[in-house]
Amino acid sequence: MSTAATPTAGPDRLWSVDEHLEDVLTTVHPLEPIELQLLDAQGCVLVEDVTVPVSLPPFDNSSMDGYAVRVADVAGASEEFPAALEVVGDVAAGAGGELRVGPGQAARIMTGAPLPEGAEAVVPVEWTDGGLGEGPVTGMRARSLAPEGATGHVKVYRPAEARAHVRAQGSDVKAGDRALDAGTLLGPPQIGLLAAIGRATVRVRPRPRVVVVSTGSELVQPGTELSTGQIYDSNSFALTAAARDAGAIAYRVGGVDDDAETLRATIEDQLIRADLVVTTGGVSVGAYDVVKEALSPTGDEDEEGGGIDFRKVAMQPGKPQGFGTIGREHTPLLALPGNPVSSYVSFEVFVRPAIRTLMGLPDVHRPRTTATLTAGKPLTSPKDRRQFLRARYSDGTVTPVGGAGSHLVAALAHADALIVVPEDVTSVEPGTEVEVVLLR
Ligand code: AMP
Ligand code: MG
Repeated sequence: MSTAATPTAGPDRLWSVDEHLEDVLTTVHPLEPIELQLLDAQGCVLVEDVTVPVSLPPFDNSSMDGYAVRVADVAGASEEFPAALEVVGDVAAGAGGELRVGPGQAARIMTGAPLPEGAEAVVPVEWTDGGLGEGPVTGMRARSLAPEGATGHVKVYRPAEARAHVRAQGSDVKAGDRALDAGTLLGPPQIGLLAAIGRATVRVRPRPRVVVVSTGSELVQPGTELSTGQIYDSNSFALTAAARDAGAIAYRVGGVDDDAETLRATIEDQLIRADLVVTTGGVSVGAYDVVKEALSPTGDEDEEGGGIDFRKVAMQPGKPQGFGTIGREHTPLLALPGNPVSSYVSFEVFVRPAIRTLMGLPDVHRPRTTATLTAGKPLTSPKDRRQFLRARYSDGTVTPVGGAGSHLVAALAHADALIVVPEDVTSVEPGTEVEVVLLR
């Protein structure tokens, strides 16, 4: 599956960022659709065209609290000469259709209640005496309907046109209309529409399940004491959060010791719940590069997935990367470097687009823009490497935060953008237009 088989591959070959990304994105495919309950489908891509089964609103109903009347009965009504109508009853939201409004009659009606038979319009309560039986007092209007129910008579001070304050059946969507097209991303309003037309479940591509495994015998859980030489495992937290932010259901498996057998067993155990595996650490050329040791191709790849190809990618940070598929299901696995900034940048550049591809999203990439570099001194960038510098973006300008050091987690936490310095550029003067990836 992965490019381990391409003729140009080899341990010394330098991959461009675009080549590595293309390898990832041509290997991962959108997940098979499933039927999900509406709220579980939030953030997912719809794979069916949804047709409206029943018009919205399903029946003519009142848009105001007031009185349902016949137009002829209130024609010419005024403060001085109100129309006095007999109130035949109440229609509340949810009421059935028993009531009928005949000539000279009105029905008290609440917002959302069905327009009774015979009625042609609704006069808002503010244009009436509210059934309180009071005389027409200029400037004084009922603010609410009489609490004790329909009282016999109501005075109406204004005429009403036919259909006034009536929401017509089907005025929102009609039965047979297309409610939502396949490909729609389901946000809150779309979920609201599906519920409004009576759908309990929908067919969508599910959220990918992403397992995040960090490696390193120096790692300990936040919340416990550090001994000499130990550090807190921050990568598994940052990447699990990032996977969730990208739309995945993310499982954090933190801090596996630098032991190839343990790591292999851990990953094997996790495959049952993984559509994608992300590891951090252990991919460079150190003595304890356990991920490389555990996952490099073994020759059994037909049974076990394509094997993970470890390679150098022409970027900074994030040069050592691993990618391939593992297990019987050929689950894609991205092995990211261990330095916190390297792993985060690698996630942004390679893993996030992979997650969004699994989700079937039309646009898998972060928005990009150009901005004017604001900095005290020129930026320097290594030749033949694409550099991703942490920065803050504001209003067309971008300012680096921290330096290029890939251990600088505090600076990363204050960044909201990445400045992208192309491979052939080694220095960027302040005031220059640069390319920026917006992280929020
Ligand atoms: P490695 O690639 O495993 O050699 O790790 C490179 C650097 O990143 C080392 O300084 C590690 O201690 C650090 N590192 C690796 N994994 C993590 C992690 N999960 N959280 C924080 N730092 C890490
Ligand atoms: Mg390590």
